[in-house]
Amino acid sequence: MTANTPEVLPSYVQGGWWMPDEAAAAGAAVIRDAATGEPVARVTSEGLDLSGALEYARTAGQASLGELTFHQRAVLLKRMALALTERKGELYELSAKAGATKQDSWVDIDGGIGVLFAYSSKGRREMPNGQVYVDGAPEILSKDGSFLGRHIFTRLPGVAVQINAFNFPVWGSLEKFAPAFLAGMPTLVKPATPTGYLAVHMVRILAESGLLPEGSLQLVSGSVPGLFEALRLGDMVGFTGSASTAEKLRAHESVQTGGVRFTAETDSINASVLGPDASAGTPEFDAYVKQLVAEMTSKAGQKCTAIRRAIVPAASVDAVVDAVTARLAERVVIGDPRAEGVTMGPLASLAQRDEVLRQLGRLVDAGGTVLTGGAAPAEVRLADGSTGEAGDGAFVEPTLLRFADASADAVHEIEAFGPVSAVLGYDTIEEAAALVARGGGSLVTSIATHDPATAARLTVAIGAYNGRVLVLDRDDARTSTGHGSPMPQLVHGGPGRAGGGEELGGVRAVLHHMQRTAVQGTPEMLTAITGVWHQGATARPEGTHPFRKPLTELRIGDQVVSGSRTVTLDDIETFAAFTGDTFYAHMDEEAAAANPFFPGRVAHGYLLVSWAAGLFVEPAPGPVLANSGLENLRFVTPVSPGDAIRVELTAKQITPRETDEYGEVRWDAVLKNQRDELVASYDVLTLVAKQ
Ligand code: NDP
Repeated sequence: MTANTPEVLPSYVQGGWWMPDEAAAAGAAVIRDAATGEPVARVTSEGLDLSGALEYARTAGQASLGELTFHQRAVLLKRMALALTERKGELYELSAKAGATKQDSWVDIDGGIGVLFAYSSKGRREMPNGQVYVDGAPEILSKDGSFLGRHIFTRLPGVAVQINAFNFPVWGSLEKFAPAFLAGMPTLVKPATPTGYLAVHMVRILAESGLLPEGSLQLVSGSVPGLFEALRLGDMVGFTGSASTAEKLRAHESVQTGGVRFTAETDSINASVLGPDASAGTPEFDAYVKQLVAEMTSKAGQKCTAIRRAIVPAASVDAVVDAVTARLAERVVIGDPRAEGVTMGPLASLAQRDEVLRQLGRLVDAGGTVLTGGAAPAEVRLADGSTGEAGDGAFVEPTLLRFADASADAVHEIEAFGPVSAVLGYDTIEEAAALVARGGGSLVTSIATHDPATAARLTVAIGAYNGRVLVLDRDDARTSTGHGSPMPQLVHGGPGRAGGGEELGGVRAVLHHMQRTAVQGTPEMLTAITGVWHQGATARPEGTHPFRKPLTELRIGDQVVSGSRTVTLDDIETFAAFTGDTFYAHMDEEAAAANPFFPGRVAHGYLLVSWAAGLFVEPAPGPVLANSGLENLRFVTPVSPGDAIRVELTAKQITPRETDEYGEVRWDAVLKNQRDELVASYDVLTLVAKQ
């Protein structure tokens, strides 16, 4: 191997690092530094046992993840995030070779790590500490309550294959890995070849951390011939890249008839609308221009969410063009991202540069006028800080186009995946909305307006064409996470040409790796299946008061059945005087009787809930640490003076916390009157010590 022959990238499969043999390596593709053209790595997967890797995920990966609960996986995600944080400098160094500035790398690397933190937190807060996720409320299917239905999610039994784009090799892998891992599905990553070395290093850090359960994460460097033939029901593919590849892969028999789940996030012609109120001089106009320039230049415009169409009131077109052009000239320094002061790096490869210039040519042929940029720059800032020829660097100038005819097909259909945006004028809000829709389905549209009515009208009109809508104004311009940043908490994906996927989006994305099943049966069976106590299932009112049982002893179904307490008019008046709640339904017989819901003066609902606590509580110090809330409170039957209430409190769900000495207990609380009618129902949340 000569100094100019870079290392062959390994694959991480079946629990170890795999390298192609010498003959295969001789034919490996060479990956080059985006700014200098220097060889960085060679890639081939020839000879790799892909079917073996998939089977390893389905067996070893499924088994190891199956031993963990949602919370245990969530805790591991956080530890992985910390392991990556500790060594992120290594990733930053590599990222510059892909043409990323520090800011671009921050989005990719810290953004990716942030996704792991976010899912770790979501998993522990919003999911049970078990393996079954319950969806929605029970459906009562028989009059006597002996037959119920409930929806549950269980993990898919196969492997989550991710096929990724070249632009965000770290974040792109982690945004799909986190929800799959939390769901309990092993992942096989296939990074895009041009920047795959970053994904390899990220996997190396995770593998070396010792945190990965066996088979939970594998990576194939290079192409994956025969992949789809080897997939089957229970497997899934999350694709990010070009619409044409997505279309080809989606058409595969395994997806069409084999039951393999396939979701795609593809090129999207996103828009940003300037509201009619946001004329030059308003804070919204400035925020709009700033955001447009940021989206054109960040990652050199190679972002699935970048703004391709700036849709602005016809009267503001010139002002927007002037402001954007001036800001580009003032702020943008193109060059090697390793040089001080560079704000925009090259595209990922010369092939991408040529492709962007080709698409730009098509836009110009279709009526686009180049207002600024439009070519590869003659000179750029080099790594040593000097200015010189771009050489083998894949640079393109930030380019603003204007289409006099805003309805020209090309501007709504052709994506130049680089620092290229086009300005289009509109006259009415309806026209602006129609232009957004012409994109055929986008990941995101932003609206810059300070007028709530405009925001509401536009959002309703364009919602169906977008996965995400960001409303920018003077009050959130500083705090906004930006048009181009998909947040792990929010849906990421979009309809139509954006691919139809929802790759991210909090717990939604976890459920995407699971199967929803309607389960029907008795309360007893549903309790056993879900780990959540259902009304009608066995309860244990006898024995030790459940408030005296630490988490390790408490069982769902443990219950308190209280004695009853009769309400008097005096009680109601005392409560009204004490709290200040003298609402007429409690204090004025005539007015209360005139109300269709009340027979006359009734007890305050909060009086009943307070009494209930008094009826079920066990007051001595014990394992119950705090009352952390109350959910789903419903008052059903009014309580009049002379009525008597009693309460049944049953341990419904027990959620031990992995990293604390306590956990949460959800109690089912039911208040009834002397006629056995339901007065109120709610969940009481408490924190209870483990020991
Ligand atoms: P591709 O669609 O060619 O590649 C995307 C991924 O698919 C890569 O990992 C690629 O691997 C893989 N792939 C390609 N063919 C197959 C196949 N037959 N079976 C399995 N995997 C396959 O897109 P590019 O990355 O080349 O980007 C091209 C265009 O895609 C851009 O110009 C842009 O328009 C769009 N794009 C959209 C993005 C988004 O986030 N929505 C992001 C990046 C690009 P390999 O690299 O090894 O060929």
